[in-house]
Amino acid sequence: MKILIVEDEKELLRSMVTYLQRENYYCDTATSFLDGRSKMESFEYDCVLLDISLPDGNGLQILKDLRDNHKVEGVIIISAKDSLDDKVAGLNLGADDYLSKPFHLSELSARISAVIRRKKFAGNTVLVFDDLVIDLLAKTINVKNETVELTRKEYELMLYLVSNKNRVISKNAIAESLSGDAAHLYDNFDFIYAHMKNLKRKLAAAGCPDYIKSVYGMGYKFAVS
Ligand code: CA
Repeated sequence: MKILIVEDEKELLRSMVTYLQRENYYCDTATSFLDGRSKMESFEYDCVLLDISLPDGNGLQILKDLRDNHKVEGVIIISAKDSLDDKVAGLNLGADDYLSKPFHLSELSARISAVIRRKKFAGNTVLVFDDLVIDLLAKTINVKNETVELTRKEYELMLYLVSNKNRVISKNAIAESLSGDAAHLYDNFDFIYAHMKNLKRKLAAAGCPDYIKSVYGMGYKFAVS
């Protein structure tokens, strides 16, 4: 899952990135209002962490622009002020959660995970497709009660497909989700084919039906009825 962190306090930003990367999130960062707004216009994220007081503007305006453009990213406001007015304004503008500084990184991570579950998986912690069971908390995939050993990339790929179930996802979107905003550095999609091939092979070997369909010239789809 891919996260954008908009935060101008460099030390705090660094500690959030380090912690969340260890939790297997891909972190993109912005340290100003303009940078944050432009990244949100250009990329899609699974969750955005938004500081309110930025040197060149108010984070709440970024949230307002996001919702005005009907973007549905999960947004957690991170504010230095434990101000009721800011909290109410943020939630009324469509923020999904609010965290006052200082906070524990473990709490931040738990809240991110909860927002993503609500947004992407209707609040479920376990996804069941007949014999295929995905445990979002344990980060495991089981087929017929046996755990399928996946690499981090393969698990992320599977989650991305499932979070977009029955929708065709372009190779470009998959590349972006697997590699953060460095997607444009890849001039071909060989690395996606490799991960996809391995994922499909491992699922098939475990006896999982072929849910992941290639859509010629377009991309892939996790197809379930
Ligand atoms: Ca700030």
